[in-house]
Amino acid sequence: MTQTLSPEGVLLGVLEAAQELLPQAVGLELRARGSLVGERAPHILPVPLNGDAAYLHLRTPPEEPVPPGFLALLGERLRQVLRQAEWGALAYTDPLTGLFNRRGLEVELPKLLALSRRYRAPVSVVMLDIDRFKAVNDTYGHPVGDEVLRRLGRILKESVRKEDLAVRYGGEEFLLVLFGAEREAAKEVVERIRERFRNERVAPIPYPLTLSAGIAGGEVPEGRETLEEWILKADYALLRAKETGRDRVTLA
Ligand code: GH3
Ligand code: MG
Ligand code: MG
Repeated sequence: MTQTLSPEGVLLGVLEAAQELLPQAVGLELRARGSLVGERAPHILPVPLNGDAAYLHLRTPPEEPVPPGFLALLGERLRQVLRQAEWGALAYTDPLTGLFNRRGLEVELPKLLALSRRYRAPVSVVMLDIDRFKAVNDTYGHPVGDEVLRRLGRILKESVRKEDLAVRYGGEEFLLVLFGAEREAAKEVVERIRERFRNERVAPIPYPLTLSAGIAGGEVPEGRETLEEWILKADYALLRAKETGRDRVTLA
C-alpha cells in the first residue's frame, strides 16, 4: 500500500528551505521516525521540535553562529508540514482499520492503473464481506463487532503486497485491488485470508468467523472504466457467494 504523502517529500521541502541560509546543509533527519533525506554529515544542528528529534546535517560548520530564531522558525515549518501530511493521510484512511477509505481509493486507483499499464501487469479486484456480521453486533455488542473489523483489517493489510490496495469499502465490506495477480493468484490470496480469519478468535465469540468474496478482472485493465466495471462484477460475484451458502470465494 503506498502512502500518499511521503514523509521524505515533506522533509525535503524543509531541507530546501534551510539551504537558503545554510547552503552547507546536506541532510535532515527526524530521528524518532527513522526518516532521513539527503545525507548524514559531520556537523549536526538540532532543530527544536517538541516530541520529535530533528537534526540538520551540515557538511562544514556554519561560518557564523546560526541565529536561534532561524532554527525555531525551521522547527515551526517542520511541525506545520508534518501536521499537513498527517491530515492528508487521515483523510484517506479509515480510522477503525487503518485501511484506505473510499477517498483513498479514488487517489490510489489511478496510480495503480498507470503502473499496471506500464508493466502490462494484470490486476484482480476482490470484494469481500463478513458473513452474518449483524448477528455479531446484535449478540455481543458493537465494540466486539468493531474488534472483528479491526482484526480483519490487520489480516488484509498483512496479506497484500505494497503495490496492492486494501480498502474499507463499506461498513463490513472490503475491497482489494491486487497488482500483478491473475484470478487464480487472487483466489489463493483470498483463500489464505479466509483461513486466517476463520482461525482468528475474538472473545467472547465462541464460533469461527467466516467471510465471502467475489473476484473479477485478472487482466491488464484498459482504463479506469474497466476497473470500475470489475468492482461491480466482483460485487455481483460476492452476492452469488452469499446466495449459494456463504463462506466461499466466487469468480465473476
Ligand atoms: P451477510 O452474511 O449477508 O453479509 O449478513 P450480515 O449480517 O453480515 O450483513 P448485513 O449487511 O445485514 O449487516 C452488516 C452489519 O454491519 C450491519 C451494521 O450494523 C454492521 N456494521 C457496519 N459498520 C460497522 C462498524 O463500523 N462497526 C460495527 N460494529 N458494525 C458495523
Ligand atoms: Mg456481511
Ligand atoms: Mg454487508
